[in-house]
Formats: sequence, structure tokens, C-alpha cells
Amino acid sequence: MENKGTITTFLTEDGFARLIFGETTGIVAWAAGRFTLSKTVTAALGRGLTAAALMGSTLKDEAGSLTLRFRGNGPAGGLTCVSDAAGNVRGCADEPTAELPPNAAGKLDVGGVIGREGELYVVRDYGFGEPYVGHVKLISGEIAEDITNYYAVSEQTPTVCALGVRVNRDGSLKSAGGFLLQLLPGAPDSLAEKLEERVRVLPSLSALIAEGKTAEDVAALVFGDIPYDAVGQSEARYRCTCEREKYRRSIKSIGIRELTDMARSREGAEVVCRFCGERYFFPPEELDAMLAERKAELRANAARRDSTPPEENS
Ligand SMILES: [Zn+2]
Repeated sequence: MENKGTITTFLTEDGFARLIFGETTGIVAWAAGRFTLSKTVTAALGRGLTAAALMGSTLKDEAGSLTLRFRGNGPAGGLTCVSDAAGNVRGCADEPTAELPPNAAGKLDVGGVIGREGELYVVRDYGFGEPYVGHVKLISGEIAEDITNYYAVSEQTPTVCALGVRVNRDGSLKSAGGFLLQLLPGAPDSLAEKLEERVRVLPSLSALIAEGKTAEDVAALVFGDIPYDAVGQSEARYRCTCEREKYRRSIKSIGIRELTDMARSREGAEVVCRFCGERYFFPPEELDAMLAERKAELRANAARRDSTPPEENS
């Protein structure tokens, strides 16, 4: 299956409500095929990647990025999903093979594997200035409910998040998708009530997506007789932004003792990207060079400190 998803945005004619629908089966299937994941982590990561893709599509700046970090008390440890305005999405779980028996409803226990207690951090980095960090306590660990709660508490944008991921018996992905339904500033109470009622009776989203319902089908179910239009469509894909240089910098910045030991071992150092599985190898000669660079930097810093007049040093 192609590593591709589609995000479609609908707006009511009065401009007071927007539906962002994401069909993300290709993205999640690609991730599930590349990593060794338990079934429940596949569902959790699928929901997280879908939510990140939906939220990332609202970033206006091309350089911006959005990070969802779930830190729950479940066996998956934590879940990190990152997206950007260009539609690149990536994600990983701290313990990708963590598994639990099905929950009381016979479904994959995403809330249990993430943990029902903990925190959700949402980092919006606009590519300039300080990133905006919002955070809320987890209410269920089921991802969609936690995103909905995040918007209510932290962003004051009334939002309903729905996510639906189906995993086949053999652990492969069947389907994935989701939506954000948002009330925009000035929305009348009557519209809010009407949409609330419609969402309450909406069939299970994972069933709709598994049946192959399109963005247009879901919009028709959500809005009913409220007039609306499709206002935009964009593509998303699973793509990591890791670079060798970034890992080189982080190895170089570890303690000078550790770096010295690493260089002396003559084994080189290998780093594996958690988001895409790419392996970066740094041979012993390169570690020697990094150690030399690091020592030169430390000497330069020390020399600068010594030459700074005391009054400017306070
Ligand atoms: Zn990577």
C-alpha cells in the first residue's frame, strides 16, 4: 500500500464550523510494516499519527511542526507523534511490542497500553521564537478523548476528535482515519447543539472507515442538513526528517569522558533513528575527529572566558 494519506477540510456555509477529515490507512500501514509493533501499539500509533496529521494540517507556516507526546503509566511507556505543515508525519512508541489482553468491550486496549494516568504534551513550533507548549492530564489514554480534552482545556476551541483504527487478526493494519470537528469563533449556540447531537448519534468512525466511507460520506453524516462545502485537500505521508549531521552533533555533545571512551573502544558508534529505523554508523576515525573538535571547542570557550573583563562577566 502506498505511503500516503489525504486530509480534506470542510467548512459550513456560515463559516462557523469546520471538519478536518483524514484518511490515513497508507501512512499507518507503512509504519506498521516497517516496525515490530504489538497489535495494541499499532492501534495506538495509528491513532496518534492520524491525530498529528490532522492537527499538523492546521499549521499555517511551512516551517512549523507539531508534536504530540503521550506520557502515560501504561506498558507502552510513551507515544510521540510529530507532523508538519507540509504533511510529513512520523511517530514511535517507547515500548513498541507492549501488549495487553482486549478490554471489557473486546477491543484493543489502547487506553490500557498508553495508561489512563499521565500527561499529554502538545508542542507547536512555528519555526521561529519559542515553541508553544500546552499540556493536560490524560483522561483515558484512548488518544481521541485526550485530544478533545486538550482542545477544551488548553486551546479554547471547542473540538471533537474522533479516530478509528482497525487492526487485522494477523497484526497488519486494515484501516485508519479520523476527524477534528471544530467550532470557530462566534459560532451560535444553536449550531453547537445541533452538531453535538449529530456527533452523538454518529456510527463508530472505525466502522465507517473500514467500510470504505470517503471524506465526503463522513462530512454528509456529520453535517446532515447544515450547508457546507469542501474547502481544501492536502496529502500526508510518513516521512522522517532525521539527518546524519543531527546525530553526529548529539554524539559530540555527550560527556567528554563518554566520548573519549567511545573513541578508545575502536568499535565505532551506531545510532538507530526511533522514528524510521535508519542506521547511522560513526567509524572510530570519525569519533577521533569528533573528540578533537570537542576539545578544541572547549579550549576556545575557556580562552574566551579568560579574556572577558570581569565587569562584563557578572
Ligand atoms: Zn529517522
